[in-house]
Amino acid sequence: MKAPTLTTRSACEICGISMRRTWTDDLMDFRWRAEDGTITGIAGDVPIGAPTSTPQLLELLAEHGDMEAYSSVLVRYQLGDTLLPWEHHHRAVEPASQIAPEDVPTCHGWPMRAAPGAWICRVDHAITPAETP
Ligand SMILES: [Zn+2]
Ligand SMILES: [Zn+2]
Repeated sequence: MKAPTLTTRSACEICGISMRRTWTDDLMDFRWRAEDGTITGIAGDVPIGAPTSTPQLLELLAEHGDMEAYSSVLVRYQLGDTLLPWEHHHRAVEPASQIAPEDVPTCHGWPMRAAPGAWICRVDHAITPAETP
């Protein structure tokens, strides 16, 4: 069985940082991470003396009496969005070549699950080593 061919290199479409595809911690899927391990980055113009956290930004907005901006930042923060307005989650330019469907072996009538170096049956969880190219 062929090992899944995956593109493992890409770049963030917002800031251009190089990104690498890695397995998720539960090995169920892949995710993109920047080469330096970060998941967020800064793009565009950062205000001079910019705060480094949302609570600091809120304080600053309150000081300036900009309550409209304050409330919109507060709402996002309460929803768990801790990104500052000039930050973003890196988003890899998704390369076209995911695992080609014809490369995925089937077992018990189901496409097998890709794992690092092997394929796993979805029914009985039998592990088949993938051929190393
Ligand atoms: Zn980025
Ligand atoms: Zn099977």
